[in-house]
Amino acid sequence: MKQEWLEGHRARKRFGQNFLHDQHWIGRIVRSIDAKPEDAIIEIGPGQAALTREIIACAGHETAVEIDRDLAAFLRTQFAPEALTLIEADALTLDWATVLEGKRLRIIGNLPYNISSPLLFALMKGAHRVIDQHFMLQKEVVDRMTAEPGSKTYGRLSVMLQYRYVMHKLFDVPPGAFVPPPKVTSSIVRMIPRPVESLPEVDLEVFGEIVAAAFQQRRKTLRNAVSAFLTEDEIRAAGIDPTLRAEALDVNAFVALANAAAAKKA
Ligand code: SAM
Repeated sequence: MKQEWLEGHRARKRFGQNFLHDQHWIGRIVRSIDAKPEDAIIEIGPGQAALTREIIACAGHETAVEIDRDLAAFLRTQFAPEALTLIEADALTLDWATVLEGKRLRIIGNLPYNISSPLLFALMKGAHRVIDQHFMLQKEVVDRMTAEPGSKTYGRLSVMLQYRYVMHKLFDVPPGAFVPPPKVTSSIVRMIPRPVESLPEVDLEVFGEIVAAAFQQRRKTLRNAVSAFLTEDEIRAAGIDPTLRAEALDVNAFVALANAAAAKKA
């Protein structure tokens, strides 16, 4: 597929612009997404269409969300409206629950690294409409997303996302694959939303609050870190050892703590 570039476009730092230039890596990413004509694909940050071109060649059509006005104008010159539905908007403030309404989507993107965590949280709200998500992110972020209890990188992002998604780190992509090259290595992650009926019941707000509190001071034991929600005895009654630290608890243990805290509030 012939790649064309927007002449004279200077990568905008504030939009996290690092454009994929290396056909080997573009091919590898596109093969792992494996888009089919029946798929409804939505791409976040198509940029200069490095992935977009290949995805449209496989699926025939995609919807893309791009914030940069110049890139949006360029994209309109590259694709017929039947091939690309372009939403010129900020993916962070887009009403994802509405955009995703009534569809079963596959979401992809070489994401702007400066907004990756808030974007992942925003997308969670529409996860029940999604088949899978393939994202390129900073390797360090993917390591946190996929970390297991007990590891140094296990934290709030791991617990919140693993509650909702099964995640697989696929492979790393070196800085040299991009122009301009980022300072860090990137990784591709596949996220598959868990079926809604399989999610343990929990008040998501309380869950989020207790997970945040537990990891805010990760060196503290639970009895100290979550004392604003539960006493030591209440933690024990929820089946959790209050002398543990947050990093030792799996998602289900946090669900148990959140349910105990929610029951107390009610
Ligand atoms: N997909 C292209 C590629 O792989 O070469 C570009 C990737 S670049 C890392 C990130 C892209 O996301 C840029 O095109 C940037 O303008 C866009 N972007 C940044 N912030 C955004 C936002 N809040 N909403 C939508 N797009 C955004």
